[in-house]
Amino acid sequence: MAFTDFPAQQQGVALLQRSLERGRLAHAYLFTGDDLQELEGMARTLAKTLNCQNPRRIGGAAVDCCDVCSRCLRVNDGNFPDLFFVRPESKLRLLKIGQFTRREDSPPIVMNDFIHMKPYEGGRKVGVIVEADRMNENACNSFLKTLEEPPANSVIILLTTQPQQILDTIQSRCLRLNLGGTGGRKFAPEHVAWLADFTALLAAPKAGLLARYRVLGQLLARLAAMKESLTETLTARSPLQRYADAEPKLQEKWEDELTAAIEAEYRRQRADLLLTLQWWLRDVWLRKLGAEPELVAFPDLTPTAETVCARLSPAEALENLRVIEQTQLLLRTNVNEPLALEVGLLKLRL
Ligand SMILES: [Zn+2]
Repeated sequence: MAFTDFPAQQQGVALLQRSLERGRLAHAYLFTGDDLQELEGMARTLAKTLNCQNPRRIGGAAVDCCDVCSRCLRVNDGNFPDLFFVRPESKLRLLKIGQFTRREDSPPIVMNDFIHMKPYEGGRKVGVIVEADRMNENACNSFLKTLEEPPANSVIILLTTQPQQILDTIQSRCLRLNLGGTGGRKFAPEHVAWLADFTALLAAPKAGLLARYRVLGQLLARLAAMKESLTETLTARSPLQRYADAEPKLQEKWEDELTAAIEAEYRRQRADLLLTLQWWLRDVWLRKLGAEPELVAFPDLTPTAETVCARLSPAEALENLRVIEQTQLLLRTNVNEPLALEVGLLKLRL
């Protein structure tokens, strides 16, 4: 199959072809949709296009495959050395760490080694992860470095029909292409509104430490307001309000439950809020890599992202993404919240 054989996926195909034409293909994609076989077909077609001996070209750049040359035929037969698939195995249908990094129980080729080997046929190597939502956390961690910085002559494609099951660290390293199925990621509108103000502060002309503490102050104020509001809502729902004459023991139990519920809800909302910041920092990084603008998470916040992008190197932009992820991880433990946020914000390169 060539790209012309996916009429239902015109939008996604057009986007890929534009990237090919401009020589701006990303190093990692997440193809999402309803039909895993179709996603595999798209991945295979991209692999063929990158390696085809007689491709259809626009302005010198290959934008579709011929589907009949020796390389295209070998891709179709599953017999092309520069294309490699990993799939869930075993009864549990999991993608395991041994499929990514070499271990005792590994198959003959593992993904990390494959990506780092030179292309056999001189074209581009393509590594495909089928049902990437089935990667367990160890597998994800063992693959993250490769996903972040694969060699220049390789492309990694993750396929999934369950994008919401994929860890954020993995998702944020890939360009997502929706090929059918539900649309992109949804963020709470109130968090996005906050993000607009917050990133405007981040993008303001560089000023010293004081400005950074102003940013921190804004974040802490927002979190405090969030906690107050959810405390009010959950307290109103608690039986404590309705049964003021209940036994003291019961009242005590309800109080404990309420405290726990408030804490859990606060942590959830805080993580969601910081996730919007994480995805905006990812937008900055994507811009640095020259990704197509329609693939960013917050197109409305383009000006601020561009301002910050212009001040950073690609390595710094990626480091920012890691910093915010580490801050999120740290906050999941019982760490002192203001301190963790302060350290995280001070580490950001802006
Ligand atoms: Zn061909």
